[in-house]
Amino acid sequence: MADLLFFLRLTTRRAGWMLLGAVFAVLVVALGLALLGLAGAVAVGVAGGLAWWLRPVALGRSAARYLEKLTTHEATFRILSDIRIWFFDRVSPLVPGRIDSGRGGGKGGTVSLRAGDLLSRLVGDVDALDGLYIQLAVPSLVALLTVLALAAVLSAVAPSVAVAVLALLLAGGLAVPALAERAGRAAGRQQVERSARLRQQAIDLTQGLTDLIAHEAVSAALAGAGRASARLGDAVRHQALVAAVGAAATQMLTQAALIAVLLVGVAAGADGEAVGPTLAIAAFVTLAAFEAIAPLPLAYQMLGRTRAAGRRLREVAETQPTVVDPAEPTVPPAGTDLRVDGVRFAYPGADSVALDGVDLTVRAGEKVAIVGPSGSGKSTLLALLLRFYDPDAGAVRIGGADLRDLAQDDHHARLGVLSQGTAILAGTLRDNLTLGAPDPDAASLDRALRIAGLDRFAADLPDGLDTWLGEAGVAVSGGEGRRIALARVILRDAPILLLDEPTEGLDAETERAVLAALAEATVGKTVVMITHRDAVAQAMDRVVRMEAGRLVE
Ligand code: ADP
Ligand code: MG
Repeated sequence: MADLLFFLRLTTRRAGWMLLGAVFAVLVVALGLALLGLAGAVAVGVAGGLAWWLRPVALGRSAARYLEKLTTHEATFRILSDIRIWFFDRVSPLVPGRIDSGRGGGKGGTVSLRAGDLLSRLVGDVDALDGLYIQLAVPSLVALLTVLALAAVLSAVAPSVAVAVLALLLAGGLAVPALAERAGRAAGRQQVERSARLRQQAIDLTQGLTDLIAHEAVSAALAGAGRASARLGDAVRHQALVAAVGAAATQMLTQAALIAVLLVGVAAGADGEAVGPTLAIAAFVTLAAFEAIAPLPLAYQMLGRTRAAGRRLREVAETQPTVVDPAEPTVPPAGTDLRVDGVRFAYPGADSVALDGVDLTVRAGEKVAIVGPSGSGKSTLLALLLRFYDPDAGAVRIGGADLRDLAQDDHHARLGVLSQGTAILAGTLRDNLTLGAPDPDAASLDRALRIAGLDRFAADLPDGLDTWLGEAGVAVSGGEGRRIALARVILRDAPILLLDEPTEGLDAETERAVLAALAEATVGKTVVMITHRDAVAQAMDRVVRMEAGRLVE
């Protein structure tokens, strides 16, 4: 229950829309009751003068129904977008310390989330919450008010009927939904978990297709996805069965109530009361009231699913980021010199340290190359300079200020970063280039393209800079992706550059061209560049070597 209350609290901003939706929903049922009651009365001839009212009430009910759909959906969509934004705000500080956006998943993080799993939460789980208001809260309120209204009407016109009908109505409105909730609880949770797993498998299958084909593992992967799909199917089938039984039970209770009304009425008639007209009204109103409780079993059956989805969202949202901004950030220093002082660092949950007492000073404007074997901690050092993590011991400083005392945004604003895994986003080449520097002028764009060795590539694209790249557009090779990332960094024109293997994936000739151009682009900037190429390292002011988490000269 706590999970649901938590999300209900998130919806308070939309209370106005929710209230409006609820008002129309109640109006629909009220007019429905009025319509059937009126029809019953007119049919038996006790209210001939009221016949005129039938048409406006019927039209009014349709109008109210339309407005109800409009407002409840408006409320739901607004709530869902609030929840999505809220969730995204929580998730972004978790990258990359807690959530590894890469394929492998965060080793040792507390929530190890793969990209597909995160997508499931952002899309499927948030969507599962839409039932909370529109399927659960509104119908429950409507049903409650209807039962109260019916109790009032029936006890006034036909008290003998009231008890029987209300008993059946309570069975339909309370007992059946409660049973449905119980019957759908486990399957609802399974639905959420299994559809997340299926989504993950589908993503793995498409993203890893070339590898799977090369290793003749496609059929095994397909069989795995097929099993995941069948397991999801089991849960969905179970839910469908429960839903059908719930609907049937409600239907039977409705019929039983109708029969009860008639029986009680006929019995009263046999005693000599003139029950005809009241009986007809009572029968019609009873039908309308059962209509109001009909959606409840399904709504409560889905509660398990909604709750599981809510729990999965909270699990991520309440994960503590590895780094947090200080309460009162210091003013960012003017200097761009970097100091790494006795830094020790182990990844969360890892057994061994990744950095084991690292000291490094990079003066403002100095260009330092870091070389060393794979796994020696080079990228980790860059991650600490970025403050993706805080050191376990020692400190990282910029312009004399400890990174932990700075606002992350202030720090990042002065960095141009080329990381090892370059993401090409779905968008045009221009979108991809201007990610860190919106609205550059044409001259800067040309310069960045030239320095990154992309001028030919851009010129050959069908729509030039406005060509779509990525999955929905022109495919980009690894080397081209690297160069796009490099051009992105150059455009950003930050005073400090952190480059992880900027020439990886380039042929020797292009590498030479890029290096020469990079020398031009980095004039006056502080540069830390990881590389495993001697030629690249020699072009820098100084070369330091990392081995097993330590700097060696
Ligand atoms: P390099 O860039 O020099 O190849 P890294 O800095 O990437 O080396 O890795 C240093 C060590 O930290 C390696 O042992 C690696 O396995 C480990 N490591 C790297 N990234 C992570 C991570 N996200 N979680 C846990 N361990 C990691
Ligand atoms: Mg690396």
